[in-house]
Amino acid sequence: MGTLSADQILRAPKVVLHDHLDGGLRPSTVLELADASGYTGLPTHDVEELRAWFVADAPGSGLVRYLEGFAHTVGVCQTVDALQRVARECAEDFAADGVVYAEVRFAPELHTALGLSLDEVLEAVLEGFNLGMANARAAGRPIVCRVIVSAMRTAARSLEIAELAVRYRDRGVCGFDIAGAEAGYPPTRHLDAFELVRRENFHATIHAGEAFGLPSIWEALQWCGAERLGHGVRIVDDITVGPGGEVTLGRLASFVRDRRVPLELCPTSNVHTGAAPSIAQHPIGLLRRLRFRVTLNTDNRLMSGISMSSEMQACVEHLGWGLGDLEWVTLNAMKSAFLPFDQRLQLIDGVIKPGYAALNVEAVRTAADPVGSLS
Ligand SMILES: [Zn+2]
Repeated sequence: MGTLSADQILRAPKVVLHDHLDGGLRPSTVLELADASGYTGLPTHDVEELRAWFVADAPGSGLVRYLEGFAHTVGVCQTVDALQRVARECAEDFAADGVVYAEVRFAPELHTALGLSLDEVLEAVLEGFNLGMANARAAGRPIVCRVIVSAMRTAARSLEIAELAVRYRDRGVCGFDIAGAEAGYPPTRHLDAFELVRRENFHATIHAGEAFGLPSIWEALQWCGAERLGHGVRIVDDITVGPGGEVTLGRLASFVRDRRVPLELCPTSNVHTGAAPSIAQHPIGLLRRLRFRVTLNTDNRLMSGISMSSEMQACVEHLGWGLGDLEWVTLNAMKSAFLPFDQRLQLIDGVIKPGYAALNVEAVRTAADPVGSLS
C-alpha cells in the first residue's frame, strides 16, 4: 500500500473517545470570548501568536504550558453563551475533519465561577453540541457527539458530579470520568462516585496510566470498574520485550488485553507533556502490534496544535501505519463507545466500513495506475 494523501486521511471516517472541550477551542474564539467577557489574562491579542503560544511543542516542555493554557480557556468559558459556542464549534470542527462520532469531556465544576449552576453549565454545552450537530448535518458532514462529564480528581465533588452525569444520560451525556493531576489522587479516592455509576448501569472511563503508573490503572479497573482507560499508556510497564523480540505480559497487561479494555491513546499529547519521547517511540506502536484494543485520540487539540487527521497522519509517517491500521483503530473506538449497541452498529456498518471500503478501492486503483490514466 502506498502512502496516504492528506485528502484521503481527511476523508477517512474517524471516531474520537478522548477529547477535552476546554482543550479544543479555536484561538480566534478564545480572543473573542476574552474581549466579550472582559477577561484580561491572555498573553497576546494576536490570533496567530496566541495559536503558537498555546502549542508548547518542545517535547516534554508542555505540562506547565498545558496547565496555563487551561486557565485561559476555562477563564473565558463562564457563561451560557460561551459554553454553547465552544461546544457548537467543537462539533463543527470535528465534522469538518471527518469525525463521525465524538465523545467530548469536560468538568462542569470548572465553569461555575460567575455563578452558573452545574445544570446550567451542562445544559449550555449539550445545547451547543445539538446546534453543532445540526449545522454539520446541514453541511453534509453528519456527526454524532456525546458528552462525558468529568469530575476533578483533586477536588471532592465527584459524587455530586456523577449524579449530574447520570441525570443527563438521556439528553446527551454518555459517561463519567475523573480528570486532573494523577499522582497523589488515585481513582479509589472517588470510589463512591464510581459505585454510583455502576449501580445506575452507566458508563465510566478513568484518566489512569498517563504519566503515573500501573497502580492507577489497577485501581481504575479493579476497584472503580472503569470500562476504558483514559490514556492507559503506562500499561507498557507491565510488558517485557526480550532481546529477541519475545514479549511477556504481566498479570495486569494480560487482563487489559484479554478483556479487550479500550486504551484511549493520545500520542502527540503524551509527547508534549513528556510522557513519551516521540511518536516513533510511543508505545502505541507496540500496543497496536500486540493487538491491545487501541484507540487513537486527540486529548487537547488547541494545546497540541493537532486534529484527528494530523494525528492519523503522524501515525502514518512515524509508525508506518496504512489504511488498514486507521480503520482498525477507528473500529476499535466505535466498538468501545458509550453509545447503545444498535447505534454503534449503525455507524460501523453504515458509515465507517463503507467509508474505508471506498478509500481502499481508491488505493487499489492508484496502485494499479499511479498516473491516473484509467480514471
Ligand atoms: Zn485527557
